[in-house]
Amino acid sequence: MESEQNINKLIHQYVINDPLHQLFDAIDVISVQGYDQNRRVIYWNKGSEQLYGFTEEEAKGKRLEDLIIPAPMREVVINAHSNWVNDGIEIPASEITLQCKNGTSVSVFSSHVMFTNQYNTKQMYCIDIDLSDVKKAQADASFNEHMLKTIFGAIPDLFFLMENDGTILQYHASNETDLYTEPKQFIGKKMGDVLPADVAKKFETYISLVLEKEEMMNFKYELSMPHGDVFFEARINKIAKHNQLIVIIRDITEQHKSDELIRHQAYYDSLTLLPNRFLSLDRLSQLLIEAQRNNEKAAVLFLDLDDFKKINDSLGHETGDKLLIDSAQRLQHELRKEDTVGRLGGDEFIILLRDIKDHHSALRITEKLLNNFRTPFKIENRELVLTTSIGVAIYPENGTTVSDLLRNADTAMYQAKSYGRNTYSFFTKKMNAIIQRRLLIEDQMRSALERHEFELYYQPQFDVKSEAIVGAEALLRWHNPILGNVTPDEFIPIAENTGLIVPIGKFVMNQAVHFLNTWQCSSKCKHKYTMAVNLSPRQFRDVGLLSFIQNLLSETNIDPERLELEITEGVLMSCHTNVVDLLTEIAALGINLSMDDFGTGYSSLSYLREYPFNVLKIDRSFIDGIILNSEDSNLVRAIVAMSHSLGLKVVAEGVETQEQHNLLKELDCDFMQGFYFSKPIPAAELLKYSSEYLK
Ligand code: C2E
Ligand code: CA
Ligand code: CA
Repeated sequence: MESEQNINKLIHQYVINDPLHQLFDAIDVISVQGYDQNRRVIYWNKGSEQLYGFTEEEAKGKRLEDLIIPAPMREVVINAHSNWVNDGIEIPASEITLQCKNGTSVSVFSSHVMFTNQYNTKQMYCIDIDLSDVKKAQADASFNEHMLKTIFGAIPDLFFLMENDGTILQYHASNETDLYTEPKQFIGKKMGDVLPADVAKKFETYISLVLEKEEMMNFKYELSMPHGDVFFEARINKIAKHNQLIVIIRDITEQHKSDELIRHQAYYDSLTLLPNRFLSLDRLSQLLIEAQRNNEKAAVLFLDLDDFKKINDSLGHETGDKLLIDSAQRLQHELRKEDTVGRLGGDEFIILLRDIKDHHSALRITEKLLNNFRTPFKIENRELVLTTSIGVAIYPENGTTVSDLLRNADTAMYQAKSYGRNTYSFFTKKMNAIIQRRLLIEDQMRSALERHEFELYYQPQFDVKSEAIVGAEALLRWHNPILGNVTPDEFIPIAENTGLIVPIGKFVMNQAVHFLNTWQCSSKCKHKYTMAVNLSPRQFRDVGLLSFIQNLLSETNIDPERLELEITEGVLMSCHTNVVDLLTEIAALGINLSMDDFGTGYSSLSYLREYPFNVLKIDRSFIDGIILNSEDSNLVRAIVAMSHSLGLKVVAEGVETQEQHNLLKELDCDFMQGFYFSKPIPAAELLKYSSEYLK
């Protein structure tokens, strides 16, 4: 080992490049080391200390291979150095990994110079640049690249990198079949060069918007591709501080389809695929705006299939549904493209005819529609005849708003039904008067109970054979100061529609049961009368009805079998599940059930078997004809026989003559009521009538 003094002397001998050292001392981002001929450190700048961790004092005099050369490289380094010193073979600049004081590796780019000093000995200088930042940046960049590749591969979206002018620089697609054209086609092109003009235009517009607003924007477009129409959503954003744009394109066909489906479900009837009520009325309001702007006429047709309910009930809903679908098709078939057919619900359809010349053009179409229904429908090898009734309202004569036209077409349709169905009716001024009256009745009826305008009349009922009074039917009368006397045939349907029948019906029930009590007591309970009370369909939806009746009966101490509830087929056909329950409960309480107006409606015998009826009332239209018409009398005979076989009593309504009474006796009818004996009369009069009748 050489003494420290010797080394210093040696170093002194070598250090000749002072100006150069001053320069190296000033830069510490680069490591500069000087070595003598025996590779001993003669110079070690600040940069070397920072890079390798050895201070100048620690390094000076040490050999290169003992300082920063990793063990496996030592041999090579020593040889290379001696080759250079002895044979002039240069060590080329290169990237190598050296070792720090603490043992960690460090990547450097190492350049070397060799020169001979004035003492004719060789000195080597190494200039090392730390590559760890560069290495890290490279590693980061390569990681990012891989990460992006992985992301692009995992996401079904398409990515485009573009210049601000829309020139495509790069694209990424996980699945290149998603692209509209060959991937290569995109590079260096603009969307306008590869996509259809309308779509390209959209890109252009949005790109300029993004550049202007400097914020992300998105839009949707559609392309027809070989495998079908595809819907896309494009998002465009500017890359901050770069004149470039990123465009991300997503296939939203599935989402678009489900959105469409939802839209369709909201606007179209799922059975017939026609516009539903909501869309139909929306179209009507659009139609009115256009008609007004263009000074055109339009027609609103309200269609209701005749007796559809019967078909539904007798042949089943499936057949009913098929009929509705076929009907919808027939309707569509007759109309122009610009007209609308919609299903309002149930068996109700609406037709909107735009730009009609006059009533006649609407009339022609209406007749065509009716005619079209004259051909029977073929459903499951069965021929079915289904007719329709049509009401027509014309814009602007019959109304200028959606609700007016709809209401008026509806009114006209009801008129057509009353003409006997399978026909049409145009709305007329007279119908307008009917509507006005209807509205007035509705309005007055709302407070009629409070003003005590209702009164019950009673029509006595008789035993056909003994002619004794057996009971009465309660019939409602209304006297209003503005309208005068309104008949129940007029106000009951309105009360039914508005729901006012519920409180009014309770009033009737209350009065009738209390009067029955008074009536029985007046005869000192010698006679047990029955009281027949009419119930309408709406009352069956009143959950409190039954307990209300029960309370009344116990309050007045009336036997349930003294009470008879008259219902029409309408109640049974209203399809409410609780109707059956309620009828069964009523029967279980011992209250009698009577089928009213038998013979006018569907007159289904099955109803009589299905429900717990005790009484059948033959409609007065049959009694009317029994004297003159043997068909009617035969029918009544058959009804009586059939009812008796089912254990039902039969009441004949509307008996007006002695002859009718005699014939009913022959036909074995049980009870009767009618003007021949008495019209419906006020309570006091009935008391008088029955006490006198008894004498
Ligand atoms: P309905 O239940 O069929 O009542 C019988 C109707 O025939 C009564 O008319 C009665 O006055 C009438 N009538 C009775 N005998 C004869 C006759 O010999 N000849 C003729 N031409 N007619 C006769 P009204 O009182 O005008 O009642 C009409 C309808 O109004 C009733 O028909 C019933 O459906 C309904 N109604 C009446 N009162 C009530 C009620 O309190 N509640 C409910 N829900 N409906 C009622
Ligand atoms: Ca009745
Ligand atoms: Ca009746």
